[in-house]
Amino acid sequence: KKEILDLYKPVGELRSPICCILGHVDTGKTTLLDKIRNTNVQEGEAGGITQQIGATFFPAKKLKEELIKTQQFYPVDCNVPGLLIIDTPGHESFSNLRTRGSSLCDLAILVIDLMHGLENQTLESLELLKMRKTPFIIALNKIDRCVEWKNKKNASSYHQLQNQTKNCKMDYESKRQQVITQLAEKGFNVAFFWENEDPKTYISVVPTSGVTGEGIPDLLSVIVKYTSVFMKNKIKVKEQFNCTVLEKKVTEGHGTTIDCLLVDGQIKKDDKIILAGFQGPIITKVRALLTPHPMKEMRVKGEYIHHDVIYASMGLKISAVGLEEAMAGSQMYLANTQDDIDKATDLINNEMEEVKKYIKLQ
Ligand code: GDP
Repeated sequence: KKEILDLYKPVGELRSPICCILGHVDTGKTTLLDKIRNTNVQEGEAGGITQQIGATFFPAKKLKEELIKTQQFYPVDCNVPGLLIIDTPGHESFSNLRTRGSSLCDLAILVIDLMHGLENQTLESLELLKMRKTPFIIALNKIDRCVEWKNKKNASSYHQLQNQTKNCKMDYESKRQQVITQLAEKGFNVAFFWENEDPKTYISVVPTSGVTGEGIPDLLSVIVKYTSVFMKNKIKVKEQFNCTVLEKKVTEGHGTTIDCLLVDGQIKKDDKIILAGFQGPIITKVRALLTPHPMKEMRVKGEYIHHDVIYASMGLKISAVGLEEAMAGSQMYLANTQDDIDKATDLINNEMEEVKKYIKLQ
């Protein structure tokens, strides 16, 4: 048990980066996410990935095993405690992931189907990312569909591309060139991640296959490097509490609970919290702080790890009295002092007006 809890602890000055995945329907977003998780389910270790509610947590220990595969040509220091991937892909979850206008997603993965190039929702995603000023990388997916592709499960795609036949390489080259040209026409300059020395100007492209898992080590390496090198300030551990309610649901054995995304700060069992409710602000006390067990036990319904304290960033479930009226999509605040409560009440009342307007619009 202690070994598992240790995976959730902060390790230095950075928190886990929060990533989300966007792209046109059928480009392979879900398959990629499943593959990233499955790789580790099959390994079935206690130190495995934990699937959060709406977010998958990759502890650093697991990341390092993948980062080794790209070490030779793309060395990355793993100085983050892990990686939090929002596992509800699509526009909607990306749009909902924000506080006061700014995105909660540190880095987005835009999935493009190598066979189809830019499609409607790819263009919409590009617009959305530009509007929110969210940095992103591109997963050029379905490389295994190139002619004569020889696959090697979960290998680095950089290595795999070198191991293909001449025909295969030609097929791949012409297809990827088409996509790059399309992107350039839209004003996006891209570069393959292994030759991208200026990722703030050029968007990194990672060839992947959700079916074979090829390119997943590369994808994880690029995410870790990008966030820990180029977004160091954004993902610095901060004291300031920042937590969003993603969903409200009934959890067996716990009554009505809320699934939250803790972006900054920490939360303890017995902390008093305040959040928006349909009948006004709700003040309650954290009865239990839960995350699901690592993959191995995840399928056992209703079994969660109980934490005394959870550090950002993390997806977590909170059980407390009086959450029946809680409003998903709203901010949660700590309410341990009267001053906390007064400040938060004002913020929540303002926010609730905004949310009501939004609901009316829908
Ligand atoms: P989403 O709509 O973006 O979540 O796409 P899905 O993950 O549901 O994938 C759509 C279809 O593409 C499914 O039939 C997948 O099996 C297939 N697919 C996804 N990724 C790959 C890939 O890398 N290679 C191949 N050959 N098929 C893929």
